Amino acid sequence: MRRKLAAGNWKMNGTGASLAEIETLMKSHPAPGVDVLICPPATLIGRAAALAEGHVLAIGGQDCHAEASGAHTGDISAAMLKDAGATHVILGHSERRADHDESDGDVRAKCRAALAEGLVAVVCVGETLDEREAANTLDIIGGQLAGSLPDIASAHDLVIAYEPIWAIGTGKVPTTAQIGEVHDFIRTKLEQRYGAGVGRSVRILYGGSVKGSNAAEIFAVSNVDGALVGGASLTAGDFSPIVSALEEA
Ligand code: PEP
Repeated sequence: MRRKLAAGNWKMNGTGASLAEIETLMKSHPAPGVDVLICPPATLIGRAAALAEGHVLAIGGQDCHAEASGAHTGDISAAMLKDAGATHVILGHSERRADHDESDGDVRAKCRAALAEGLVAVVCVGETLDEREAANTLDIIGGQLAGSLPDIASAHDLVIAYEPIWAIGTGKVPTTAQIGEVHDFIRTKLEQRYGAGVGRSVRILYGGSVKGSNAAEIFAVSNVDGALVGGASLTAGDFSPIVSALEEA
């Protein structure tokens, strides 16, 4: 049985005032029936983690460096995220792959570093619109999984997020059949890679323009174990209905 996960990615949004959204979210879901994760910008992780102490809401980072420490100005290691109170880290988000030229190999190295620190790695994969229109989606996803994931993972420390790039922040959402096809494919790949036990237990999130209005339909798709949400995670008012939809799924 996979415990469902509603994860919010605040990206480069939020200052101290935004912590009130986390407080409101926790009040709206004092004992959520699903896992809830907020990944604020790094500047807020410590304060967010302190705020969430004693609540099941988890706090995560949006990236980490593959090395533990060193001369990498502006970067943050997995150990630093953990020290600040993060329990999870998003890795290989398409915006990082594009903006920072991150390769599958980079994502894999970061993933190994995160797991070594005991963080849960939320590894993102997804195709461009051109790749989908050329009927290459599954090849692209298969390649990203093969290159980005570590050889050893457990059901608890790895989460996959399928995020079609053309659906992120655009309001466009794949059909439920398209989501189901990719999630089933990812499940098969995980079983082949890690064996049936781990492969069946790793959670697979869908991400890309998830909102309160479309969440229930997406959560009804097979092998969708929750969502990675960008824009609609920034306020408790938008994120709470998604958490509720997942609780009811
Ligand atoms: C994301 O960036 O991970 C994302 C899914 O964004 P949005 O929900 O805004 O499409």
